[in-house]
Amino acid sequence: MIHHQQLGTTTYTRSKNLLQLIRTGAITIGGNKKLKIYGTLQCSSGKRMKTANRVFFRDEQEALQHGYRACKRCLKRNVPPLGREGLHYCL
Ligand SMILES: [Zn+2]
Repeated sequence: MIHHQQLGTTTYTRSKNLLQLIRTGAITIGGNKKLKIYGTLQCSSGKRMKTANRVFFRDEQEALQHGYRACKRCLKRNVPPLGREGLHYCL
């Protein structure tokens, strides 16, 4: 699990490092630390999340291991996993 705030001290460095991790596949899932919910990086509900509450996972298994549950909005079963281009985060 990676905390968004660990990725850098400025918004710019955080975005840059985050993009790199998404491109390499080190991150495919976003989550909310307070609510313990994870979802796709594209989910529109995640955009309002505070940076301090935002975490990232390599995959769903990792999120589940940390006790997170799937977002009902974007992770309904039978929806294929989304790509890695988006920078929206999920609640
Ligand atoms: Zn979602």
